[in-house]
Amino acid sequence: MTEPILVKNLRILLRRPGRVETGASILLEDGRITWIGEQPPPLSKTGYVIEGDTLIAAPCLYNAHTHSAMTLLRGYCDDYELSEWLQYMWAVEKHLTPRIVREASLLAAMEMASTGTCGFMDMYFYPGETARAAASLGLRARLGPVIMGDVDPYKAVEHSIYFAKSLKGLKNIGGVINVHSIYAAPLDAVTYAAEAARQHGLPMHIHVSETRREVYEAKKKYGLFPVELMAKKLNALNKYTVLVHAGWIASWEINLVAEAGASIVHCPTSNMKLATAGHMPAYELIEKGVNLALGTDGPASNNTLNMFLEMKQMVLLQRHSYWDTRIKARHALQAATTGSARAMKLPRGCGTIEEGAPADLVLIDAEDPLIQPTRIDNIESTLVYAATGREVRYTIVAGKIVYDRQRDWERWRRRAAIIARDLNRFIERYAGEKSPTPPTPRTYEPPLTQ
Ligand SMILES: [Zn+2]
Repeated sequence: MTEPILVKNLRILLRRPGRVETGASILLEDGRITWIGEQPPPLSKTGYVIEGDTLIAAPCLYNAHTHSAMTLLRGYCDDYELSEWLQYMWAVEKHLTPRIVREASLLAAMEMASTGTCGFMDMYFYPGETARAAASLGLRARLGPVIMGDVDPYKAVEHSIYFAKSLKGLKNIGGVINVHSIYAAPLDAVTYAAEAARQHGLPMHIHVSETRREVYEAKKKYGLFPVELMAKKLNALNKYTVLVHAGWIASWEINLVAEAGASIVHCPTSNMKLATAGHMPAYELIEKGVNLALGTDGPASNNTLNMFLEMKQMVLLQRHSYWDTRIKARHALQAATTGSARAMKLPRGCGTIEEGAPADLVLIDAEDPLIQPTRIDNIESTLVYAATGREVRYTIVAGKIVYDRQRDWERWRRRAAIIARDLNRFIERYAGEKSPTPPTPRTYEPPLTQ
């Protein structure tokens, strides 16, 4: 049971995009938002009080696609072409150990919590270690083994379900069926994974149509584009399917995604940095009612896990592609809050500040110089275009303060420095090595024992 929290007399409350007010107070009890109003109720129990007169309350951000332990590879071989870059990444990843993934995940979790991200969906090696790191800080996470390489499709999916069940003891942590892609996993695994995801209510998370080459190969091999293949041949599009990237999705594939009720995760920075080009047609997807989520992708291809920066990148890339301003700050806020929460199958209400919703919210310093002058009428665009994440004072997940800048920043800084020394020692051992083939993550990741 967490202590109730009363946030009093907020300078600005952004309940969700389009609904802003001032002078409100919020009561958080037992993991939920139980009251919002102008006159704070007397606390029935002893609770923690946060004075809100210099604070902005906004919904939490959720990172719907990442490989968070790739903090290890942040800043490593940044400026190579995609194919060469991958060979450098793979050479290091072949040597990964659970300990390194644990440390790198902890670094990632600190970065996310301190920049207003309350939860993330992950695809990487040793997911149990990342799960423990997220749980140790109190973040929400959706993760699981990666289905990739020459594996038995049925057994691999069964094992992902088994692993997801083993996460039950960790608060706010849940499973996801991770299939790397249609080109790196058996196609039967995509079909089984989609069906199992529907049956078990888990997201099925897959990279798709990231590069032009992937689309070309699919068309040559199967006569269909990747999303088309998933819909028509693999029966793999349903409301639990989460398609990541979709930078080369064809116009006729958008209808298939909309009809299935699947989600798409946009990763604008990664697409630009890896120069995969294409165009993720955000406007058409939104118009057709597709749930659009936002993710940073891994910190090797971004190089941050900061969702404030990602929101800005989304709008900029979209405007650059459309040659007009049809994509607004509000679209990015929606994608990063309710859009990602829905793709991740988080509890209903995540991504909004409403009575009865889970108590996930961010309190931002309304007086930080970087976001001045902030007003009630410009709050959405200020959060998307000016905020850097540094302005976050508190990140609250399920009613628990997971990050309090005053309490945590100095301690986390020291902890990050120790982790960084260790990660650098690891990287130095393999610096300059290349591997022509990817390492295979453990599909049969042992279930988590707490
Ligand atoms: Zn990715």
